[in-house]
Amino acid sequence: MITKDPSANMVLPKLPKEIENLNKIALNLWWTWNPRGKELFRSLNPYLWKESGYNPIKMLKNMDENDLIELTRNETFIKEYRYVHALFKGYMEDKNTSYQKPLPIAYFCAEFGLHHSLPIYSGGLGFLAGDILKEASDMGLPMVGVGFMYPKGYVRQIIGSDGWQQETSETIDKDTAPIERVLDKDGNHLIIQVPFIDPPVFTAVWKVNVGKTPLYLLDTDIERNDPWDREISYRLYTPDMNQRLRQEIVLGIGGYRVLEVLGIEYSILHLNEGHPAFALFERVRNFIENENMDPKEALKRVKETSVFTTHTPLQAATDVYGFDMIGKYFADYWERLKLSKEEFFNFGINPDNPYGFNMTVLGMKMCSNINAVSKKHCEVTKEIWKNLFKEQKTPIEYVTNGVHLPSWIGENLFKKLEEIFGEEWLRIEDDKDLWNKFYDLENEDLWKIHYENKIKMINFIREKVRRKWAKESIDPIIAMAEGVMLDPDILTIGFARRMTSYKRPDLILTDLERLEKLINHPSRPIQIIFAGKAHPADTPGKHIIKKTFKVAQDPKFAGRVAFVEDYGEESAKYLIKGVDIWLNNPLIPMEACGTSGMKASINGTLHLSTKDGWWIEGYNGKNGWSFGKEISDDKEDAKELYDLLENEIIPLFYDSKEKGFPEKWVEKMKEAIIDISPKFSARRMMKEYLEKFYIPISKKESVRK
Ligand SMILES: *Cc1c(COP(=O)(O)O)cnc(C)c1O
Repeated sequence: MITKDPSANMVLPKLPKEIENLNKIALNLWWTWNPRGKELFRSLNPYLWKESGYNPIKMLKNMDENDLIELTRNETFIKEYRYVHALFKGYMEDKNTSYQKPLPIAYFCAEFGLHHSLPIYSGGLGFLAGDILKEASDMGLPMVGVGFMYPKGYVRQIIGSDGWQQETSETIDKDTAPIERVLDKDGNHLIIQVPFIDPPVFTAVWKVNVGKTPLYLLDTDIERNDPWDREISYRLYTPDMNQRLRQEIVLGIGGYRVLEVLGIEYSILHLNEGHPAFALFERVRNFIENENMDPKEALKRVKETSVFTTHTPLQAATDVYGFDMIGKYFADYWERLKLSKEEFFNFGINPDNPYGFNMTVLGMKMCSNINAVSKKHCEVTKEIWKNLFKEQKTPIEYVTNGVHLPSWIGENLFKKLEEIFGEEWLRIEDDKDLWNKFYDLENEDLWKIHYENKIKMINFIREKVRRKWAKESIDPIIAMAEGVMLDPDILTIGFARRMTSYKRPDLILTDLERLEKLINHPSRPIQIIFAGKAHPADTPGKHIIKKTFKVAQDPKFAGRVAFVEDYGEESAKYLIKGVDIWLNNPLIPMEACGTSGMKASINGTLHLSTKDGWWIEGYNGKNGWSFGKEISDDKEDAKELYDLLENEIIPLFYDSKEKGFPEKWVEKMKEAIIDISPKFSARRMMKEYLEKFYIPISKKESVRK
């Protein structure tokens, strides 16, 4: 089963002995959520740091040997290096005994959003999965992640001068990504044969260190595979359904096998969305064949000890495969599970649409621990799958998503929090009393932090355009539309998310005349920053971008509407804390939860949103604004949005400047930070996963035997 790849070796820069642990720190994503870690790398060489795209492995590889030796003689640097290394070591060795520990959990997801140097994500689902691994590490929970390496997975967005989105795909540089080859016992890159695919498919295995949580990535782009098989892991959610099925077989069944080969034992299987759900079958097979379990007993055990999280509010958004396709790959498989063909197919049959094999249905039929991702989404899920649940009698819970605070709070605010709360504050980051201490911060100090973030965002946007200008000598009107004229003193609205119809990016463009007046108001102007990619196949989404870009190019809007190209993890980090308002206006109930509004709010960027997803639980009347009809209506919702801006939001921002900054606004920012940070932290979320699922499963008699 384990075969050799003779090219395997680990390529890390050679460092002087005095600072050799820099490699260890660089190869663990811990540094990405630790400001001292980031500072340390920046201090090596601020210019190379920026040029490397804030990727320490790439930077270290590009550093001059003499400069590295020079650093070993720099006392200030060595002192900080030792301090950060001790911090890292302390973190890695800290078992964190504050939490009751469940039995080990394997967490499967098709994408993980961790850092832009590892582009294996497309959006919200991936960042949630990434935040879960980080939080498990902070809390010392026994978890291991399983996902995909997408060598050419990441779609980059280029906006043409006509405003039409074009895409290029980015190839992951495996030599500078924060990944390690997993080696077999002979020291070669571990390659595993995926069971039950014929002709055989092989996958290499990589490891990502997410603090204390290991994440294993499967990679079919290796020489042993035929070209068609190499492409299995090329891109996320490939539109070719046959290839997508093969992808999901590799993820679920291949992923299961990887853990088996590595000897990683776990008692709880957590599936984030339906893509990896074949792992459930593989688990049943394993219980029957390797533990001699009775087939019925095996099914029951898998059901009781597996967790399924659903993220979509639409049946149509789930993966469905034709029975002929499933039959082609699984014809011998159901016998191994002691199931008839009909019984096997039935696991994927949606009573509302029984003409195919549905991966979300598979997850919901084979797990008795199911959750939606917000209170509202739970109601919607019960409704859209009501016939399924009637058949099943499975209860469905909800665990509202949260965000990993140290990853998403800006560095300057983070430092301030450390000053106010003390260095150990992350141990109790979801404690409401802790956050009440934040009232002690002077309003002016919070404004300074925010203003600095605003300047940084505008600099980031301009630098992006400058590079494009220098490289491609673009038409100046494009440079203009992409944000070079933004002004840090103007009230700034941000709309950054996937550009797709249900999110209604153009709602605020409904009445352009009215908008133009708001933008060009002589004493109280506003500006709007848009960013976001459309899915390559989403033509209506691309038309929305085009429409937005056209407004941004129109001199009537005075350079105060901008479209920032190629939204991703890096730009998100600037935007969530650099704008004043985070606008969110999906068609209700299409936003299952949403997390970018949480990321904004914990930085004091005020959320302005329709009553959907997490905002129904999050809005308390003081920590942002809520607008829109319960049953969405574009015209009415747009009118309400303009009214709210005109009558309440804009005056609040401009009419309280006696002290040289908008004090009433800052008070609202404080409300948002104090109220939302503990409630929508990944810590609160993980505690709920522990309470509702991981701990009760761990206590089951059959599991503990
Ligand atoms: C958080 C995040 C998302 C998810 O945003 P939603 O508004 O919740 O869809 C998407 N992309 C990036 C880069 C993010 O950081």
